[in-house]
Amino acid sequence: MLPAIFALLEGRTIDLESTLSHKIRGSANFRLTRLVPTRATTAAKAAPALGESLLSRIGNTPLLRLEKINTQFPSVEILAKAEWHNPGGSVKDRAASRIVGEALRSGKLREGVALLDATSGNTGIAYAMLGAAQKFSVVLCMPANVSPERKKILRAYGAEVVFTAPDEGSDGAIRKAQQMAKAHPKKYFYADQYSNDATWQAHYYGTAEEIWRQTEGRVTHFVATLGTSGTFVGTTRRLKELNPKITCVSLQPDSPFHGLEGLKHMATAMVPRIYDASLADRNLDISTEAAYEAVKRLAREEGLLVGISAGAALVGCEMVARELRGPAVMVTVFPDSADKYLSERFWDE
Ligand code: PMP
Repeated sequence: MLPAIFALLEGRTIDLESTLSHKIRGSANFRLTRLVPTRATTAAKAAPALGESLLSRIGNTPLLRLEKINTQFPSVEILAKAEWHNPGGSVKDRAASRIVGEALRSGKLREGVALLDATSGNTGIAYAMLGAAQKFSVVLCMPANVSPERKKILRAYGAEVVFTAPDEGSDGAIRKAQQMAKAHPKKYFYADQYSNDATWQAHYYGTAEEIWRQTEGRVTHFVATLGTSGTFVGTTRRLKELNPKITCVSLQPDSPFHGLEGLKHMATAMVPRIYDASLADRNLDISTEAAYEAVKRLAREEGLLVGISAGAALVGCEMVARELRGPAVMVTVFPDSADKYLSERFWDE
């Protein structure tokens, strides 16, 4: 009987009937096999679905230790959320899936209504993936000069794209989406990621809880870049509730003309409604050149092929770590991989 008890303690299933009958017969040969359902339960219960759903793979990303970089800072552990592990390849799966989930539940997104939003990249890819998987149409406004890789990915998922003037940047795309939503209110659900509370709530309920759990509550610093600001705002709000002593640092491009795709220079851009500057203990300005250099270091020293904003995130972490005297557990977010930036010239410079 003892092996059967051990098997149960280990969470293995056993053939109780045969085990007991062996015991009754006094046999020493206990068989540990799968629990055999009776005829009644076989008929009543459908077999559980195999595999995992695409949506269930969003979030719960790994928290990576930057082994080589950490040797520069003996008392600081820098850790990064590897957001390219999301099925759409970026951190934006989190916000997009929450926006879509709420819109489907409330009926704002339904048969005959298309999701409309402005995006220069990752959110659009996330919407396009979800639209294909959950069967709704997706219309995206984006500047015409976004990289060919992005255009191809969106086409591959079957999304419709409305191109806007390159010189107007992402703000031009936002204005276009606003006009279209106003002109055709019945045709579109305007997701408006920059104003939608689901954008920051995805991180409040997801990213922050994951960081707290993955560091066993030992996180002392959170450092993250600002685009819609959803990642920083949502994660910071929850981490400060869990421990008000955690220092939270936001990162922005150091000029309006920058190469940090996905990030906003708040002083000159249309400021997202969800942005709350008062949450940050500090804000640091990051140069595009420093981010490029950090991306190359991450590839060549850590074996991590990450996107440009992840390079900016590392530069911010290093700036904070250099000033620290005591021990620290610093967590950042690496929003995507290098896949969409491989044609950039900086790799060869
Ligand atoms: N990096 C990249 C590559 C992004 O696409 C985004 C989203 N715009 C961000 C960083 C910033 O994330 P958030 O919108 O949550 O501020």
